[in-house]
Amino acid sequence: MAVTTGNIVSWIAALASTYGEQQSYLTELDAAIGDADHGSNMARGFAAARDDLQGDPPETPAAALKRVAMVLMKTVGGASGPLYGTFFLKAATTCPQANELNGDQLLEALAAGTEGVQQRGKAEVGDKTMVDALVPAVEALRESRTAGEEPAAMLAAAATAAEAGRDSTYPLVARKGRASYLGERSRDHLDPGATSTALLLAAARDHLAA
Ligand code: ADP
Ligand code: MG
Repeated sequence: MAVTTGNIVSWIAALASTYGEQQSYLTELDAAIGDADHGSNMARGFAAARDDLQGDPPETPAAALKRVAMVLMKTVGGASGPLYGTFFLKAATTCPQANELNGDQLLEALAAGTEGVQQRGKAEVGDKTMVDALVPAVEALRESRTAGEEPAAMLAAAATAAEAGRDSTYPLVARKGRASYLGERSRDHLDPGATSTALLLAAARDHLAA
């Protein structure tokens, strides 16, 4: 019922595989409205994070999340490295002592991570960024927890909401990041960061409450 440190390690390992498999797809999305590096950024960053955690297993969820943040900030680069790094770092600050995370703590961690991304990147929902997938995911976590659900059902709802959020970016004109330089030409493309965020939540659904 709770999220353990081992679940977080499994989640990151699954993400390393997913981003490895989806690297060319994410790069293709970024080639259309950016600079064609999002796939390699994510694959490189999460492979490094997986290796770091597996090389020296962390003792608590906060330690695991913080180590992921540090590795992502160091290895990913671009806009998404500092933003995903901030997501994991802020999530870690909410649960410094916990040995595992219950539903309330999981919600608090992912909500703080999302607020950190928004503070750092200054993007709102509708700007065609990863925020368009993160914010609805957190709303779904909150609604689900309020309805009395445990982490497995909360994360299933969040993954579905993140996919809808990803799809919502298709018709939008980008107002933040590199894609915003294209103006109207950024329309009718999925945002690469919202797509990688939907994958992050899908892996959370499959591994974080297993
Ligand atoms: P870069 O744009 O520097 O090449 P990436 O290609 O790795 O970095 O990441 C691009 C993604 O980063 C975008 O698709 C978008 O989702 C996200 N992004 C860019 N700027 C912001 C921002 N200010 N706030 C939130 N997300 C952003
Ligand atoms: Mg890019």
